[in-house]
Amino acid sequence: MPVMTSGAATDKTMLDRYMSLPIPEGKCQVTYCWIDGTGEMLRSKSRTLDFIPNNPSELPIWNYDGSSTGQAEGSNSDVYLYPIRMYRDPFRLGNNKIVLCETYKHNKKPTTSNKRVTCLEVMNKAADQHPWFGMEQEYTLLDVDEHPFGWPKNGYPGPQGRYHCAVGADKVFGRDIVEAHYRVCLYSGINIAGTNAETMPAQWEYQIGPCEGIDMGDDLWMARYFLERVSEDFNVVVTLDPKPIRSGNWNGAGLHANFSTEGMRNPGGLALIEEAIERLSKNHLAHIRAYDPNEGKDNERRLIGSHETSSYHDFSSGIANRGASVRIPRTCADEGKGYLEDRRPSSNADPYMVTEIMVRTMCL
Ligand code: ADP
Ligand code: MN
Ligand code: MN
Ligand code: MN
Ligand code: MN
Repeated sequence: MPVMTSGAATDKTMLDRYMSLPIPEGKCQVTYCWIDGTGEMLRSKSRTLDFIPNNPSELPIWNYDGSSTGQAEGSNSDVYLYPIRMYRDPFRLGNNKIVLCETYKHNKKPTTSNKRVTCLEVMNKAADQHPWFGMEQEYTLLDVDEHPFGWPKNGYPGPQGRYHCAVGADKVFGRDIVEAHYRVCLYSGINIAGTNAETMPAQWEYQIGPCEGIDMGDDLWMARYFLERVSEDFNVVVTLDPKPIRSGNWNGAGLHANFSTEGMRNPGGLALIEEAIERLSKNHLAHIRAYDPNEGKDNERRLIGSHETSSYHDFSSGIANRGASVRIPRTCADEGKGYLEDRRPSSNADPYMVTEIMVRTMCL
């Protein structure tokens, strides 16, 4: 991980003076965001437009220096940005926009980290089944020195057990960031479902969904961008590492993926849920390879069969079982319909990859 210093922190209240300056009528600022060559980090840059767009298709295709983001050679460095999903800008307000983009190489082929193209193809094939997703994004806040936020500098906080969904200055670290991010998501048009403090202190979760098809990946990537921006304002670092504290009795971080089709949501849907789990059980390793950006290597540190996780190597399922690969929520078992929860994806997984393979395995 890069070495960070807090030397760049500025007084954020000063900024308000400038951000309240009006901009010329009919103009707006648009931030183009994209996934870089790591398949894990986001980048962005801004431009002025002399019209107010209503739809991302009205936005110009743009480009950037892909040799600086791990996506191209220096001698042929332009990577194209295709705007695909537009949100209200929660930082600049007004008519300003933030737009999620796909990345394409000079030959107009998707870059390696552009997993949206095949995801969208699969979602289109399964559209008549109306696949819904709800993803639970767990993450950990770090100080700028990369020490867990709020943890004593020379030691550890008290053991786990007091922190999950907790209140109190001795139990929760960084709630301001969580609250700001929640409001930012609602303002901008992201389908955020909720938030909670997690089992490890300084670890948090937000849920996006239910979202149908490709919207799941779009909204989660933009929510990740917003969390980075909000944390930057607070001079705090976010990590999506699935096991940020590697030794000791500390939970890792996941991206639980809740899933249903229209049939599963209808009366008697439990039979379809069980059938889908049967299919998942036969394709375990392919899913594990898609459930982090490094073909399972990151998640291997997390899926150890304890700390509310299942085995990396073996598939398991059960009603209300948080130690299983896939859980059927108790209420769904009782009602005979609903959804299933795939608990395997790593916190740093690409939601386009996760939702694509889920639909491939369960719907096609
Ligand atoms: P957990 O009990 O595992 O912590 P959460 O409440 O954190 O669950 O998250 C559940 C997620 O499942 C939410 O994002 C919610 O929107 C989503 N969800 C609810 N119903 C469905 C459904 N029928 N299909 C897919 N996702 C769903
Ligand atoms: Mn330049
Ligand atoms: Mn949850
Ligand atoms: Mn959780
Ligand atoms: Mn869960």
